[in-house]
Amino acid sequence: MMERPAADDEFRSPDEVHPVRANGRFYNPWPASAPAGFRDFLRWQVGRRARQEIVTGPAWPRFERAVPAFVPRGAAGALAITWVGHSTVLLQIGSVNLLTDPIWSDRASPVRFAGPRRMVPPGVAIESLPPIDVVLLSHNHYDHLDDRTVRMLIERHPAARWIAPVGVADFALRRGAAAVDELTWWEERHVASVRIACTPAQHFSARGLGDRNRTLWCGYAIHGSEGSERRVFFAGDTGRHPAFRSIAERYGPFELTMMPIGAYEPRWFMRSVHMNPEEAVRAHVELTAGGSSQAAMVPIHWGTFRLTDEPPAEPPARTHAAWAAAGLRAEDLWLLRHGETHVRAP
Ligand code: ZN
Ligand code: ZN
Repeated sequence: MMERPAADDEFRSPDEVHPVRANGRFYNPWPASAPAGFRDFLRWQVGRRARQEIVTGPAWPRFERAVPAFVPRGAAGALAITWVGHSTVLLQIGSVNLLTDPIWSDRASPVRFAGPRRMVPPGVAIESLPPIDVVLLSHNHYDHLDDRTVRMLIERHPAARWIAPVGVADFALRRGAAAVDELTWWEERHVASVRIACTPAQHFSARGLGDRNRTLWCGYAIHGSEGSERRVFFAGDTGRHPAFRSIAERYGPFELTMMPIGAYEPRWFMRSVHMNPEEAVRAHVELTAGGSSQAAMVPIHWGTFRLTDEPPAEPPARTHAAWAAAGLRAEDLWLLRHGETHVRAP
């Protein structure tokens, strides 16, 4: 385990947590939230290999795909969401088009010949995207920040505004992005009629050797004010942490959350960095508390790349069960197929 050193700055308001910054690295501020270290990673991988899971893996089901049905620009007050795959979502709030953690590559990896392979093609061809106004990046892991995808998007959507957590802006700037904002938790930006706030997440970062936690990770609260107000939450990658309520108090209640439900097994290794379906549903309830009883959740971070040990069809099945057990309305769980668009009228 990575020890959490003493913080450089001392003041922490209890309900407004900030990332701990020390020795040029970021740390989650919650006790017992340190991700497993490299030795634990090896222990997981060696055990996996011994059980032949890397070689054979659980069978990959044939997930159904859908034909996207988004329009180039939404009507004022409308809300539309299209799941491209993994954590890549086309979110249309009124006439503003946002894209989250874009990856179109075949592998979530620094190289093209190895690394987790995409098991379902992107639900939207990158050429078919509508004009993109905002790209939100949650952190620098390969399944969320992809070199080729970033280059292609910058070329096709040169006017897009990129928003990234501290340390990640440089990635897009070096590839030619014209406007990149770098935020820490609770910082906000306005883009057209949309307000975007960077929110806490319990995770870590790394792309190579020695860069562990050099850059920050986050989620986003997104408010649209064109026509009726829309409040949407994108969780990024996160373990379960105590700040979902503070996020809801400040930016909620949300009518739609995008919550990661996959990459949670084995728990001893993944618990601190990825929620399981039951935790995702609980976090959704906290984020939407006090709001309409019809708040919807779109599960993300599942069914696209094989990253961890749970069977690929397990996350949606367990999410369904947890949703029902929480007494939530079945029609508010938007378990989208790759490519599927779901629209909520103004
Ligand atoms: Zn991650
Ligand atoms: Zn991830």
